[in-house]
Amino acid sequence: MATIRQQLIELLQNQEVNARDISQILSIREKEVYDHLEHINRSIRTKGQKLLVSPFQCLGCGFLFKDRYRFDRPGRCPHCKEGHIRMATYRIEK
Ligand SMILES: [Zn+2]
Repeated sequence: MATIRQQLIELLQNQEVNARDISQILSIREKEVYDHLEHINRSIRTKGQKLLVSPFQCLGCGFLFKDRYRFDRPGRCPHCKEGHIRMATYRIEK
């Protein structure tokens, strides 16, 4: 039986998904997804693989959260203060 983390790595190698997709597919809470992603991001690097992140984006002004070093969902846009943020998506480069 593969661990959640192994299942998540496999999922990310096969498709591009956001935290909500992952949460549904693996039946874990969204908050846990971000913890796993952080760990996977560090661990796969040692194997020469890379977690590609398409960043969160503000739906109000289009601001991209490109320099965000954390994985969890931002609350508000620092520019227009809008709270509608499009989810980031993730995949693992093979
Ligand atoms: Zn904005």
